[in-house]
Amino acid sequence: MATSDSSESHDSMDDDITQVPRARRSKVWEHYQQDLVEVDGDLKAVCKYCGAELQAKFGTSSLRNHIAESCRSIDDACRNRFLSTMKTTKTSKAVFVFDPKVCRELMVKFCIHAKIPFLKFEDPYLQPWIDSMQPAFQVKGRHTIRDDAKKMYEGIKKISNLSYKT
Ligand SMILES: [Zn+2]
Repeated sequence: MATSDSSESHDSMDDDITQVPRARRSKVWEHYQQDLVEVDGDLKAVCKYCGAELQAKFGTSSLRNHIAESCRSIDDACRNRFLSTMKTTKTSKAVFVFDPKVCRELMVKFCIHAKIPFLKFEDPYLQPWIDSMQPAFQVKGRHTIRDDAKKMYEGIKKISNLSYKT
């Protein structure tokens, strides 16, 4: 009795914008002038709202950031509409790979900066909290954290000493 009726037709809606080069199909381009301008030999995109000239040859991320955050002349409705189109691209979430080493380094960095006593790592409520985010991450004892912190603190000191000398 079951009849398979899954013949969906995906009519392309992109056909009407065939004049636009493939690389410029990104949604962000509707917020920029159609023609790029040449500034010191570089092609730049011009913001429709504030006239800012932005480097376009390394991809559209700076163009997106400008519309999403920096532009002062864009109206809120326009910005929100753009932000809602950005949310549909979940690539950064999809490719996220948990790295316990990076995580531990960042944790230690936070502890140094926030002056968290190492004894706090013995707190029985810490691991359950971390488990709720990433069960693969194991909290180390306070001695390990202290050693990590010491090493990192020396490293940070070296870096800041270097930058103060210049
Ligand atoms: Zn702008």
